[in-house]
Amino acid sequence: MTLQKSFSEWSTLAASATVNGQCFIDGQYRQAVEEQVFDKISPVDGRVIASIARCTTPDVDTAVACARRVFEAGTWSRMAPGQRKRILIAFAELIEKHSAELALLETLDMGKPISNAINVDIPGAANAIRWSAEAIDKVYGEIAPTPQDQLGLITREAVGVVAVVVPWNFPLLMASWKLGPALATGNSVILKPSERSPMTAIRVAQLASEAGIPDGVFNVLPGYGHEAGSALSLHMDVDAIAFTGSTAIAKALMIASGRSNLKRVWTEAGGKSPNIVFADAPDLKAAAVSAASAIAYNQGQVCVAGSRLLIERSAKAEFMEHLQAALEPWAPSHPLDPATQLGALVDQQHLAQVRGFIDTGIREGARLVQGGETGIAGVDGCYLKPALFDGVDNAMTIAQAEIFGPVLSVIAFDTAEEAVAIANDTPYGLAAAVWTRDLSKAHRVAKSIRAGSVWVNQYSAGDMTAPFGGFKQSGNGRDRSLHSFDKYTELKSTWIKL
Ligand code: NAD
Repeated sequence: MTLQKSFSEWSTLAASATVNGQCFIDGQYRQAVEEQVFDKISPVDGRVIASIARCTTPDVDTAVACARRVFEAGTWSRMAPGQRKRILIAFAELIEKHSAELALLETLDMGKPISNAINVDIPGAANAIRWSAEAIDKVYGEIAPTPQDQLGLITREAVGVVAVVVPWNFPLLMASWKLGPALATGNSVILKPSERSPMTAIRVAQLASEAGIPDGVFNVLPGYGHEAGSALSLHMDVDAIAFTGSTAIAKALMIASGRSNLKRVWTEAGGKSPNIVFADAPDLKAAAVSAASAIAYNQGQVCVAGSRLLIERSAKAEFMEHLQAALEPWAPSHPLDPATQLGALVDQQHLAQVRGFIDTGIREGARLVQGGETGIAGVDGCYLKPALFDGVDNAMTIAQAEIFGPVLSVIAFDTAEEAVAIANDTPYGLAAAVWTRDLSKAHRVAKSIRAGSVWVNQYSAGDMTAPFGGFKQSGNGRDRSLHSFDKYTELKSTWIKL
């Protein structure tokens, strides 16, 4: 398949796409033990596109037993790092080779524009796996500064059986940020994709096998969070759970760990990120264009979405003009059209929830400046025009709740101190941006913000070289960079008497 395709070519492929909805355990696709399935409805047009295995406790028990057996056997866990590297790079290459197929599955599954899926999600997933693979034979242990009669070795060992539980907004990409380091460090993995977007996870299981990952090392269990997800979180033989998703479920996982085997729980959770624009921003128009993208990209379903726009009052009138104009092109259209930049929200339930927040904003006294309309002509999917609210107080529901949709709240401030106070007045601490020409002010504000990522004069920069994760209730884990390896390894000290 070539990557450049027209709307009609993608539509033809979509109409004939066959989707495997089975689980993948011990190198084989199979039905769930209880043979239950659920329908996967596409948010693009409301069609049922797949029948997905509804895994429950017996499937989790089988997958964990298999993952444990393989881990203990050492085929992968004790394989030389350089050999694991070669196999994982082959896996990344297979993802790239199948990128058109995977991008199509991602778009049909959760509604993102096909151009995003093919240019961002799938290459990003391959890159994450390759980056971790390439690093693994370059990571050294340490020697402790011991007395002469001792040798102290500080080493890292694979944790064992790792459950990877991920959300639906960047299905394969979020999974790959965890699969890369978890597999590179020698663990056995059980991936539980979101029930709202299981299709690429199921598909890549076979590619992993084709690349040479031994049977049982990489298993995929589709199913509901309260069934398969919960069973993994309570399992006595899962050593770690690497989670990306909502703060509410992150808390539930920590409780489940305490109720079971104290498995390591790593959480990358929600956000309500402030995007702070000072009157001395280098270019107010550019800041507005970036702010529009920060709330509308991926239909606003981004953990680091810039959902609170803090604007210095003296520049507000001019900035609002730019912002309104910048949001105009973000009108929803068919996700399979390569020209589309705003696709469908993940499903009708989520669309109704986001619309509900817009109604709440109006009820609480914020002013809806533009957007909020649902639907597009000719297709029955989950579409919403980005909503822009002015006159928002940070205490309002729309400024506090993680809406996880294209709803932007504009809040005015007068001083840098006030901006920082508003920015930090949230349970979350995932990301923030600061726009100013004043280097000292940029550093001062960036240091004062309690968030895992801060961008200056831009929004949402980053790649595999730097960690990504949150402060406060945005979670405790870090994806990307060598720091992410810590989540999948235990630290061991070995003392040798000389
Ligand atoms: P969610 O918490 O509802 O679900 C995430 C995953 O957890 C899914 O696979 C789900 O099936 C599973 N799950 C649900 N209930 C469970 C339970 N009781 N036990 C175990 N697993 C369970 O989140 P979502 O709606 O899929 O995703 C949106 C959320 O993800 C937002 O809050 C967003 O901010 C967050 N997110 C965070 C990051 C980050 O890096 N910090 C990145 C992307 C998304």
